[in-house]
Amino acid sequence: MPFTLPELPYAENALEPTIDAKTMMIHRTKHHQAYVDNLNKALEGQAAYSSWTIDQICERMGSIPETIRPAIRNNGGGHWNHSLFWQIMAPKGQGGAPSAELAAAIDAGFGSMDAFKKGLADAGIKRFGSGWAWLVVKSDGSLVISSTPNQDNPLMKGFVDVSGTPILGIDVWEHAYYLNYQNRRADYLGAWWDVVNWNEVSRRFAAAKK
Ligand code: MN
Repeated sequence: MPFTLPELPYAENALEPTIDAKTMMIHRTKHHQAYVDNLNKALEGQAAYSSWTIDQICERMGSIPETIRPAIRNNGGGHWNHSLFWQIMAPKGQGGAPSAELAAAIDAGFGSMDAFKKGLADAGIKRFGSGWAWLVVKSDGSLVISSTPNQDNPLMKGFVDVSGTPILGIDVWEHAYYLNYQNRRADYLGAWWDVVNWNEVSRRFAAAKK
């Protein structure tokens, strides 16, 4: 089954003013669609991998032959990362709060919610060029912040500095913020907390701990 572009769980303009409708439209229907299309193209005729889920493609990147791996890494990562990104955002006021368990793990891992937010923003600001900043559940259940270049993600064990299960990710490619924030990545990262879907991040934290 070819991969398809997921629907948004809210309207394109629902994250305004943090993320404008035009950015959402271009980001999903042009950028994300291109990752989906190019992933499907890279998997054409690859019977061994075409039944894998997008999670399995990321987790098993090392099993994919080097001849086709770059296209699958970039576009499969792009599809996974953006599919997460749409889900872990919600209109302002509708994203709830971190679960008690997640809040406790954030305090244990980073000292406080404010320290976590600063740490994630720093990871995004310091990422040179394009990439992502992540909140990752490691195999021992602890939380860690990481960042990856391009469309890599922490599921890609062996290809990234920190591997684990990402439960929150922020896109720091310029296409994610340039219309509204131009070069001001730090402003985008600061404003973004208004549209985090903590209910979904908490659900993913609980699932990753199982
Ligand atoms: Mn993007």
